[in-house]
Amino acid sequence: MNNNAAQKIRLIMELRRQGISDTSVLSAIERVPREEFIPKTFRDRAYENIALPIPSGQTISQPFIVAYMTQMLKPDPRRKVLEIGTGSGYQAAVLSHLCRRVYSLERFRSLQVEAVRLFERLKLMNITTKLGDGYKGWVEQAPFDRIIVTAAATEIPALLVDQLNDGGIMILPVGPEPSSQQIVKLTKDATGKVLEEELLAVRFVPLVQGLAVET
Ligand code: SAH
Repeated sequence: MNNNAAQKIRLIMELRRQGISDTSVLSAIERVPREEFIPKTFRDRAYENIALPIPSGQTISQPFIVAYMTQMLKPDPRRKVLEIGTGSGYQAAVLSHLCRRVYSLERFRSLQVEAVRLFERLKLMNITTKLGDGYKGWVEQAPFDRIIVTAAATEIPALLVDQLNDGGIMILPVGPEPSSQQIVKLTKDATGKVLEEELLAVRFVPLVQGLAVET
């Protein structure tokens, strides 16, 4: 067994101990080669349960947070999901094994372009990405059964709630400051009424309005 495989098994066991009980989520994590989504200098740490830096000053989340948010999203093969914040593409890759279609928006063109290349190389054919401002969602593809936001907003973005299907679930970090963010779960019932629950204290990079200016 190569070193990565052993480290990966150890990580999966740790995620189970941390309360990730959905076996479809654990096997999706097992199938995605996290080292591919990480800059070369940090690759030997790909299966540690830690967040790591990616280009453009962003981060790939800790595997526990990816697994936790994915589990709370209750993904299934009939669902169409929107992700805000493609970043490295790792979260989208995990979702691609669990959902029918994944739509993902990123405000840095360089990150979006790299993610597309990686999805092609890994043959993840059910992910569609676009350069765009996640605050506005993806009107042409709405509504979505599931929405996951991987950057923290100060308030729940109303346009995203509008693009959530009745019966849908949205998982997102929200907080006025980095020190006081919570993962929030929104559930829209069959009549369109929205229920809000706070799940877990976290620290995410900020959700920023508008496209990034890149040199
Ligand atoms: N899901 C990513 C996490 C990346 S960090 C992964 O698995 O690697 C969050 C990402 O959200 C960053 O790439 C950041 O550029 C992006 N982001 C922040 N605000 C955004 C916005 N308004 N619209 C789209 N993407 C945004």
